[in-house]
Amino acid sequence: MNKLDFELLDKLTQTPGLPGRESQVARLIQTHLPSGCNASQDDLGDLVAHLPGDGTKVMLVAHLDEVGLIVRRITPDGFLLVERLGGISVRALPGARLDLWTGNSQIPAHAGLLPGHLDNQHFLPLLDIYIDIGASSSEEVYLWGVRVGDGLTWSSALEHKGEHAVVGKALDDRLGCLILITLAHALHTKQLNCDLYLAFVVQEETGLMGGVPVVNTIAPDIVIGVDGTLTFDTPDLEGQQGDIRLGAGPTVKIMDAIRGKSGSYLPHWDTAERLRKLADDNNIPLQVEITTGLSTAVTPLPFAGQGIRTAALSIPIRYHHTPIETADLRDVAWLVELLTEYLRSL
Ligand SMILES: [Zn+2]
Repeated sequence: MNKLDFELLDKLTQTPGLPGRESQVARLIQTHLPSGCNASQDDLGDLVAHLPGDGTKVMLVAHLDEVGLIVRRITPDGFLLVERLGGISVRALPGARLDLWTGNSQIPAHAGLLPGHLDNQHFLPLLDIYIDIGASSSEEVYLWGVRVGDGLTWSSALEHKGEHAVVGKALDDRLGCLILITLAHALHTKQLNCDLYLAFVVQEETGLMGGVPVVNTIAPDIVIGVDGTLTFDTPDLEGQQGDIRLGAGPTVKIMDAIRGKSGSYLPHWDTAERLRKLADDNNIPLQVEITTGLSTAVTPLPFAGQGIRTAALSIPIRYHHTPIETADLRDVAWLVELLTEYLRSL
């Protein structure tokens, strides 16, 4: 990855895109897609770019939104009580830096926590978490333009970590967005063997359904999702569920499921097999993913229209849904390479 890509990833991760409020990220992406690459938004907010070509209609899907919080109550003392938007890590909240997004401003915020002197071993549930923006009364909070329903994101700069990794917020799924933008630049002047759509969809974190209107409108033959997945390469998770690790390649999904829910995602078997064979043939490292505890925007898409062949490729990300999401840029580059080979092979 060159410097320019890091700068674009930095902009992508620093732009707020809470579920249902993704318009700033969509605008940013639209300005970074090559001109001539037809991009438009539907009424829900999904952004779709079209690179016309002959043959199979292929759609690549990444999601625009990130996990966060919404203000549900302002206390008389000027603290904010919150609800989760998506599966933000509650454990990572106490002491965390946050950004509060009001109608027209960005206010620095912290989630409060006990002083070290009075610390105990208790996990702080969401109901006991409060946000401190430095106000001393609810009147002051209202004066600053804050309203119930305003959103908060992690405040976390994108940084390099070691030789190949990056750390920051919202790598899930701005890395997927970056991959689709990178492909648009690489392919928009080329003769394609397929009719290619790049879909940046809304509201993945709160219900996975944002891509449904897009596939109903465009009726692609094949959909491939590009999103993050969990790793099992840290001392607390080593070997659990599987061996997915940073820097060992992207993953091809064989199954995922959100724990406690009945639905599992299963890809179109031949499409997933084809991706595995292409990776093999081209010496691209590829890990195999069977994950519980996570699902993505691709989950509802096989059941749209007349039924759709889908597969999913993932970027391993440590510390998912926290301010220190960590990914290896080599995995990102390999995923771009694999998708390029796949599109060429059609
Ligand atoms: Zn995601």
